[in-house]
Amino acid sequence: MNIERVETHPAASPVLPAKVRTYWLSVAVDVPVNGPFEYSSSEPVPIGLRVIVPFGRRKLVGVVVGAPEQPSIDEAYIKPVEAVLDDLPPFSGHWLRLARFAAQYYQRPLGEVILPALPAPLRKISAYQGKRSAGGPVERLARRKAPALAQVEPAPALQLNEQQAEAANTIAQTQGFKVFLLHGVTGSGKTEVYLHAAQQCMARGKQVLFLVPEINLTPQLEQSIRARLAAVVAPEAIAVMHSGLSDSERLRAWLNAQHGRAAILLGTRLSVFAPLPNLGLIVVDEEHDSSYKQQDGLRYSARDLAVWRAHDLDIPVVLGSATPSLESWYHAQRGHYKKLSLEQRARQVALPAVRLVDTRRLALQQGFSPQLLEAITQRLQAGEQSLVFLNRRGYAPALTCSSCGWVSKCPRCTAYTVLHRQGGRRSNLQCHHCGFQARVPHACPDCGDQDMRPMGRGTQRVEEHLAELFPTARIARIDADSTRLKGSAAQLFAQVHAGEIDILVGTQMVAKGHDFGRLGLVGVLNADAMLFAQDFRAPERLFAQLMQVSGRAGRHTQGAEVLIQTDYPEQAVYQALVRHDYDGFAQYALNEREAIGLPPYTYQALLTAEARELASASKFLQAARSLPEQRAGEFSTTSLITLYDPVPLRVLRVANVERAQLLIESVSRPALQGFLSKWVHALPELAREARVRWQLEVDPMEI
Ligand SMILES: [Zn+2]
Ligand SMILES: [Zn+2]
Repeated sequence: MNIERVETHPAASPVLPAKVRTYWLSVAVDVPVNGPFEYSSSEPVPIGLRVIVPFGRRKLVGVVVGAPEQPSIDEAYIKPVEAVLDDLPPFSGHWLRLARFAAQYYQRPLGEVILPALPAPLRKISAYQGKRSAGGPVERLARRKAPALAQVEPAPALQLNEQQAEAANTIAQTQGFKVFLLHGVTGSGKTEVYLHAAQQCMARGKQVLFLVPEINLTPQLEQSIRARLAAVVAPEAIAVMHSGLSDSERLRAWLNAQHGRAAILLGTRLSVFAPLPNLGLIVVDEEHDSSYKQQDGLRYSARDLAVWRAHDLDIPVVLGSATPSLESWYHAQRGHYKKLSLEQRARQVALPAVRLVDTRRLALQQGFSPQLLEAITQRLQAGEQSLVFLNRRGYAPALTCSSCGWVSKCPRCTAYTVLHRQGGRRSNLQCHHCGFQARVPHACPDCGDQDMRPMGRGTQRVEEHLAELFPTARIARIDADSTRLKGSAAQLFAQVHAGEIDILVGTQMVAKGHDFGRLGLVGVLNADAMLFAQDFRAPERLFAQLMQVSGRAGRHTQGAEVLIQTDYPEQAVYQALVRHDYDGFAQYALNEREAIGLPPYTYQALLTAEARELASASKFLQAARSLPEQRAGEFSTTSLITLYDPVPLRVLRVANVERAQLLIESVSRPALQGFLSKWVHALPELAREARVRWQLEVDPMEI
């Protein structure tokens, strides 16, 4: 300690004021302005501790991220910190580096990365001030008893087949940094490989971070992990973290991770920021899943940050998928990642046969081909389940007037309103973009004709048709509408698992993770809609989704079948699906991307602007685009940077806000990063002038 003490005469009382040294601190706070900000303290404060600081008229919780020798601004303007929060140990150097990297890479102020990464009670000023604050949230939580965990029947570890064992051992024996790409067909037992490797890591006293795309849809996975690890670790040593938890549940899991009490943390993308002092292994299951990308605020990719963390800590990371992202596949091809393959299904059941039904010359009955209807009939007779997959909820995508061609549109968006019609409940029109709802008009608003018809079909209408076509079958629908009530999804899935459902109609909600015992047939309707989406990743997503939904079939029964109805059976995506040929599809798609110069051969960023009128948004983007030319001296690397023309978004207007975007591309990631870090500082001023809201996204998933 460097505090200078003033010797006082024993008789001199009261004590003379001590001459106190001032310590300078840089503190990150959650404000949309570049920080960190400087404060003073009469005591040294370790880097990584949280403090309460005055900010304008407010008080905020911040994190100390530096302790400069000298302040960078006039001392007279520097305010002292109000309190040091020492209810937690300081964040580690690794954790702060992770936050710094994310802030730099995704072009956000550091405070907007660090604070939102913490559970709400740790960053809310109200938790530390006011009447109810005695002790702060950490102590208050410690005084409350942890909720009792349900007893779990331990499940024995499964016998691994040769490929599984080899993969698990390779991972477990690796202790330095290495990225493994675990490529296994659906049903090949990837989870078992993760758990074997995780167990060996935990046996060395290390923590495991296990990332999954959507834990709230798959309590099944949590249960099976708890059962599998019940014999090895205490139930409290398994922490779970996702956005569906209450503030205090999340805080408890977070503290367990931070104190090293959690041997394994199972969580969705936000848990990539969990502090784990003894982290030894990271697993990213379904690494291709777009849920790993945060779509607002800090638009990070949890998968990419997981790889960065592993690199910084010099530990292995496993990315697993049946349909890896083309980025990861490309890295594996180049030898940057080590590929581990699981080619057999764990239960020795053959993959389902995939058949394309060419619908160009077929008379469809309510959207169903004769082949699909025949196949459903056969499965019903055999006592097996069928799944009809359609990625479009509601009754029909729009309502139309058969006389004049009027189509139902949202008054606030450039989008149709979707007709919803549910058993017993009245029909209405809903906008899936802004939530607008309207009653169904009795007559056409334009011509007054009463012959209004649904246009196209969604899951509700498909369910209705199936009920007419198969009156004795037990039919259920699983989509965002039928599972809105808490617990209803679990109940519907339980019915399917119990064999109480013959035909299931579902959206992508049914595609992930579920293991349906008696599912013999999958029918896919309207896949072509995704094939011609404008996004260059659409075929990749379609392939992954259809592989995944196909993988639901025949996990336990032989002779399972997948029928895909399409007008374009010759398309490479469909041909590869028939052959179960991920490698072939990936090679084809990568060749195409290389030829056109798309990721992973180039790097992209997307600047999006929102305004009342498109003109303002475009004006801002134009100004941003011409900035590098106007200030050529500042932007020296622009020869490596391509700035495309601003374009309106496909759905131009949402909730009365019009949107346009500008794509930035480069063959060099450092060049792009260098460019963005300068560019981003000029944008706020341009945005104020044009009166637009803007956001910059690095490595965008949707364009
Ligand atoms: Zn009309
Ligand atoms: Zn709308």
